[in-house]
Amino acid sequence: MTEGARELLRTVYGYTGFRGRQEDVVRTVTEGRDALVLMPTGGGKSLCYQLPALLRDGVGIVVSPLIALMQDQVAALRQLGVRASFLNSSLTPRDQAEVIDDLTAGRLDLLYLAPERLLQEETLELLGTVRPALFAIDEAHCVSQWGHDFRQDYLGLHVLGERFPGVPRVALTATADARTREEILGRLRLPGAARFVSGFDRPNIRYTVQAKADAGRQLVTFLEARRGRAGIVYAMTRRKVEDTARMLAERGFDALPYHAGLPPDVRTRHQERFLREDGIVIVATIAFGMGIDKPDVRFVAHIDLPKSVESYYQETGRAGRDGEPADAWMVYGLQDVVRLAQMVEQSEADAERKRIERARLDALLGWCEITECRRRALLQYFGDDLPEDCGNCDICLDPPRTWDGTTEAQKLLSCVYRTGQRFGAGHVIDVLRGKETEKILTRRHDRLSTYGIGKDLPDTQWRSIVRQLLVQGYLRADPERFGALSLTRKSRPLLRGEERILLREDASPKRPAKVARKTDYDPGPDDLPLWEALRTCRQELAAEADVPPYVVFHDTTLREMVRVKPTSAQELLALHGVGEAKLERYGAAFLDVLDAHRPAGPEEGATLT
Ligand code: ADP
Ligand code: ZN
Repeated sequence: MTEGARELLRTVYGYTGFRGRQEDVVRTVTEGRDALVLMPTGGGKSLCYQLPALLRDGVGIVVSPLIALMQDQVAALRQLGVRASFLNSSLTPRDQAEVIDDLTAGRLDLLYLAPERLLQEETLELLGTVRPALFAIDEAHCVSQWGHDFRQDYLGLHVLGERFPGVPRVALTATADARTREEILGRLRLPGAARFVSGFDRPNIRYTVQAKADAGRQLVTFLEARRGRAGIVYAMTRRKVEDTARMLAERGFDALPYHAGLPPDVRTRHQERFLREDGIVIVATIAFGMGIDKPDVRFVAHIDLPKSVESYYQETGRAGRDGEPADAWMVYGLQDVVRLAQMVEQSEADAERKRIERARLDALLGWCEITECRRRALLQYFGDDLPEDCGNCDICLDPPRTWDGTTEAQKLLSCVYRTGQRFGAGHVIDVLRGKETEKILTRRHDRLSTYGIGKDLPDTQWRSIVRQLLVQGYLRADPERFGALSLTRKSRPLLRGEERILLREDASPKRPAKVARKTDYDPGPDDLPLWEALRTCRQELAAEADVPPYVVFHDTTLREMVRVKPTSAQELLALHGVGEAKLERYGAAFLDVLDAHRPAGPEEGATLT
């Protein structure tokens, strides 16, 4: 089979080789065995079921949670000459009948379905008559009741094993942790599935975390350096999503809001524009993103903390699926720490669940404050080892300075104690800095021994100290009492001077782009016109075919065109991402553009002499 698979890889997809464990998965599933595939976003999961579906008899059934995205996936496959369709409620009854006709007549290689549709008795019976080649269960972590992508319908999918014995099933996900993995195998009843767990490293993503000063301004600075590129900005609340989108639009960014409270047609329109146009910035709650397989998302920015390291990894994983440089950028501050703790405590969850949530939050905060390579710590969290520092995170590129903050921590802890462990960070800092607020005067906090002993440091630095003491467990913020700070068991030795504490200096938001970076493709002055012309050609063909530009060709392929400057169909076919179907469809148009930009030959110059 390996030969057949390689042949298809080349002729259909235009790829020169398999990536990671793709080949093993393809072999396993093609031979009829079940598999669990865990690959980071952008790792190339789709090939793992598409190729076996093409290699085996019958139609491959793909279960996918998001109806809205099936259309683009199917469109991309058709561009490759693969006979793919989807069945869902967005189709008219007549179109549905047509798909069913194609299915029963054996004219389909792949059929995409939502789980609820698949599980209808009618559909199961229909599939019984055609004998599927395989079942691919995409986003398989949706079976996990612990995860935030839980889908009730996914729980029913175990019937596939009973109804279609002998038909291989392959479950795929990018969600990392071991517990979810076991849950998937259990709930889908895949005890004998071969497991393919790939490393989680996404080396092209650069991780950066900044202390939040003025999130809006920091975001604008970050985006200014990335104008014209597509990206996602995550915020916690709908209101913040809308405010931020408006603020960015006023500054001339193509920014659109997306959250569950917007009318469905607006959501769809914004998502469509994000997928189909170059350089849209979507400002969204976490309602946006699952299953978005736009490969050229250049950044994911968080202006509020995500819920956990897992969510962070998943959300940032939407950047740079094409393997080109991309950014995962985040600002976070004291408020986030307090608010998230509050959300955990005030949730309806039982004690055990709260304990887990608390531990998750602690892991995330610890990661934010880390002073070692961020990527290494992130991978360690998922059980992966990185032998060396990555050289592509904020810490590696610009190591934070640390300082001995023992005395300052003592001042702060005593001040918390003297004020009765009843006040939030704002008031405690006011006392330290010797301010004359009404609250201080009425409570006579100006008479405390700690009043004014922190004048030498600005508010921002005190906030940073509070944040770090919270994260390191030297302070607690009581969620029941509006984040009132109190001491912990860990505080004593520090207060008594039996322990010292190292704190990190927050990077100044004023010098964010200190490090020069090789960002976007820079074709150089000679090739720029060709590059632009190829992009225009792609945009026009995409509009004509009603597909996103990257479905015609990825940036990587255009870049190769500029580098190689192919002169024939044969040479074009050798490029990454050019298969036979696309060559036939688009080859001539791109060769025309290439021809029009070829430098004049030497003989023309020669006639001048
Ligand atoms: P995932 O579903 O795991 O996030 P995809 O299947 O969408 O990832 O693939 C991510 C990108 O990698 C796609 O743009 C695809 O074209 C590319 N890709 C996948 N497999 C290969 C391969 N063997 N060679 C080259 N490119 C690949
Ligand atoms: Zn690093």
